[in-house]
Amino acid sequence: MEAIKRGISPEGGLFVPSSIPVLKADELASLAGSSYHMLASAILSLYLTDYGRDDLDECISSAYNCSTFSSEAIAPVISLKDGLHVLELWHGPTCAFKDMALQILPRLMVRASIDTNSDKETVILTATSGDTGKAALEGFKDVPGTRIIVFYPQDGVSPMQELQMITQEGNNIRVVAVNGNFDDTQTGVKRIFGSAVMNEELNRRGLQFSSANSINWGRLVPQIVYYFSAYFDMVEKDAISMGQPVNVVVPTGNFGNILAAYYAKKMGLPINRLICASNDNNVLYDFIKTGVYDRKRSFYKTISPSMDILISSNLERLLFELSGRDEEQVSNWMQELTDTGKYRIDGNPLRDLQSLFWAGYATEEQTRYAIKEAYVNYGYTLDTHTAVGKWVYDSYKEEIGDDTETILVSTASPFKFPHDVLTALRPDVQVADDDLLQLLSDISGMPIPKPLQGLTEKPILHQASCDIDSMDKLVLEFLGM
Ligand SMILES: *Cc1c(COP(=O)(O)O)cnc(C)c1O
Repeated sequence: MEAIKRGISPEGGLFVPSSIPVLKADELASLAGSSYHMLASAILSLYLTDYGRDDLDECISSAYNCSTFSSEAIAPVISLKDGLHVLELWHGPTCAFKDMALQILPRLMVRASIDTNSDKETVILTATSGDTGKAALEGFKDVPGTRIIVFYPQDGVSPMQELQMITQEGNNIRVVAVNGNFDDTQTGVKRIFGSAVMNEELNRRGLQFSSANSINWGRLVPQIVYYFSAYFDMVEKDAISMGQPVNVVVPTGNFGNILAAYYAKKMGLPINRLICASNDNNVLYDFIKTGVYDRKRSFYKTISPSMDILISSNLERLLFELSGRDEEQVSNWMQELTDTGKYRIDGNPLRDLQSLFWAGYATEEQTRYAIKEAYVNYGYTLDTHTAVGKWVYDSYKEEIGDDTETILVSTASPFKFPHDVLTALRPDVQVADDDLLQLLSDISGMPIPKPLQGLTEKPILHQASCDIDSMDKLVLEFLGM
């Protein structure tokens, strides 16, 4: 509960589970056929051991239901052909996979406050590359005992993502554009978390900071659930038999989603390869191929903005496991990253990294090609992030010749990036912004998701912007200090 309430440890490191629970083959098999709720309850209760099971179940059922999600399956699996299965994680209220965790995180936080008799109000600070911000706002709006501030990079999110955030309603929220890129924004937020002065100031007024970013353990653990649910769905539709290994392809930014797949594998879910897909910001690709993490490189703004990240926070948690849980070693690597912008791993950790993971990346042109190709060959419309994953999946198959049945994790609805998806499908198309969604619906044969309908008519409620250096001032102002 403390880990979820605090978000980040007082020393600045990330919280990790004291051990990773392992399911035996018969325990795993007994979960097959469970509803999403039952699965979430079984898995979350293994990690969140200080929550009462009934309280946990209540959090789960109010997070995942037919008023919050448009699909009864919550996270449905759509099988294309050639051993490829798409896990759609975007049926929640903001149409991106962040809802899978951010619908339940606020409920877990509120429960933690009640159970620990905390009378402190929680102030959520969030840096977003586009999707976390909106999902966190939806999750935390009007939640008693919480206030939330979302910082997003001024020119680093898609027009739809920005529109979703600046029209957000709720009486406890603030949305601010920062003059900088995502890494600047995330670093600014981390600086505020680490500031003794700010923390003291808050403490004096009965407030405390927490995070809705994937550095919060409460963001990661709900993401483990859908890897199990996808696996069992595939067993159910006879795509695989129980126990048969699958590969997983994940469009990656901050390394949270793919890390959840890694935990699922460690828990005993038969996952063979974890395939990490990047866009032109391919720092993870280089790291997995060479063991050298070097953030000193050009930052590219791409059509998959939620993956435009050079400092992947959650890698720290993987390094902890790869180093044999050696805190000191991890802390040295992180210090090197802060001081010099790079670090290198070798020996066993590198060997393990390379046997577990495979990495690839897609350029802008390749991403557009993947959208078109999937549409032509399967009649299926991918968003720009999932398209990066599709390109990397094809590269993997070609290079390795591995025919293992594969789950492609689909992280956003194509309607969140209508302009770029349409341009990929119809390069010559000319259409006014207001008609983009309808045209995409006509071409893809998919309905426009409800949460994105009528967004352009909504009043704009947030117009604040600031420089990186004045983020702390804005926080104090919002809190009335
Ligand atoms: C956040 C996000 C990602 C990256 O996920 P990480 O957990 O940060 O690796 C990929 N695609 C979309 C659409 C996202 O919103």
